Amino acid sequence: MSAYWAAQAWLPDGLASDVRLTEADGRFTSVVAGTTPEPGDRRLPGVVLPGFANTHSHAFHRALRGRTHDRGGTFWTWREQMYALAGTLTPDTYLDLARATYAEMVLAGVTTVGEFHYLHHAPGGVHYDDPNVMAEALRTAAREAGLRITLLDTAYLTGGIDAPLEGAQLRFGDHDADAWAARVAAIRPDHTLTVGAAIHSVRAVPLDDLPAVAAHATGRPLHVHLSEQRLENEQALGTFGATPTRVLADAGALGPATTAVHAVHLTPDDIATLGSSRTGVCLCPSTEQDLGDGIAPGAALHAAGARLSVGSDQQVQTDLLAEARSVELHERLAAQTRGVLTPADLLTALTAGGHTSLGDPTGGRLAPGTPADLVAVRTDSARTAGADPAQVVMVAGTADVDTVLVGGVVRVEGGRHVLGDVGAMLGTAIRAAWEEAR
Ligand SMILES: [Zn+2]
Repeated sequence: MSAYWAAQAWLPDGLASDVRLTEADGRFTSVVAGTTPEPGDRRLPGVVLPGFANTHSHAFHRALRGRTHDRGGTFWTWREQMYALAGTLTPDTYLDLARATYAEMVLAGVTTVGEFHYLHHAPGGVHYDDPNVMAEALRTAAREAGLRITLLDTAYLTGGIDAPLEGAQLRFGDHDADAWAARVAAIRPDHTLTVGAAIHSVRAVPLDDLPAVAAHATGRPLHVHLSEQRLENEQALGTFGATPTRVLADAGALGPATTAVHAVHLTPDDIATLGSSRTGVCLCPSTEQDLGDGIAPGAALHAAGARLSVGSDQQVQTDLLAEARSVELHERLAAQTRGVLTPADLLTALTAGGHTSLGDPTGGRLAPGTPADLVAVRTDSARTAGADPAQVVMVAGTADVDTVLVGGVVRVEGGRHVLGDVGAMLGTAIRAAWEEAR
């Protein structure tokens, strides 16, 4: 058994003082406020939060950070640069890149990542001897970096609505929904990997295949990119006579086990549909800024009943506290008012909301019986000094994360990952990935 003590901790009922947490076998056994530390307790600095969920990640996109800003363009031209990288990664370079990317996430307080995984096959769409070797690389990467992974294995069957896969996209494809499901069925869950499913988008799974993919995902988390770009809506309306949200609803793909990612360009009916079906919505503000996607109606979705979460998506930054506060800051820009979502709403999205979307409805809470994950955020740094600890999400960032515990194991202490220099790991992995791409 291990014991931890924090002057401030965010418990399910809100911020509490003088909190003692005990852990055994990877789960909290007690969480009690109003205590004094006992001999041998590990004292944590700052304010202690539950482990963060990074609900939407494409690990390999980390190699694009800081390399795509000199050409202007749009989401669609950025995608060409991403395809150039996707076309050449091998199981080995994918593993090294994902391990370093996940280590950076742990430094940011992430204890579970939702990996939206579509880079399945070898160039040209040829199956590897083990057709899940790329998924296994992600499993190994997560285990070595020290966080849990929900592998959202992605059905990606067409290059666009009624368009074949081509170029790098051939690596993403399975022949049809049944072939995708059969391959995914061979991926074994373990204590650090949950097998989930994803529909890449209504662009990439034909209308006739959507119900089958949704049915295969029954009992697992199901994620889907939704209305990130106006062009997707225009194509869906032109071809199906319905918005992407309506298409998914009609296919039986929405509900509490589903998480729609981005959800930027929605009609009032779409918002009502997502809310009334209790579908989760994952917002990725730094990506939506970087790719010029637009501002998602986060507050309206929250008010309608959709469960919010956040993700680092294409890894333009790895700062989940910043992602969470940007949900509110986007609302301020759009609505010209403050406090649409409270700091508690944002922390819930970052923790319990995200873990629920990744298949663990008990995660993201400092409570007995839940996974022993926590994040100690310093309240004495140049960024955070003087702030109300209950509002720390509005000011703190990755640099303020001091200690990260995942399943009872310390992975970050004093702001350093136990693996060592994550910057060096990233630099080596990214150089190797681009050398292959040349
Ligand atoms: Zn994405």
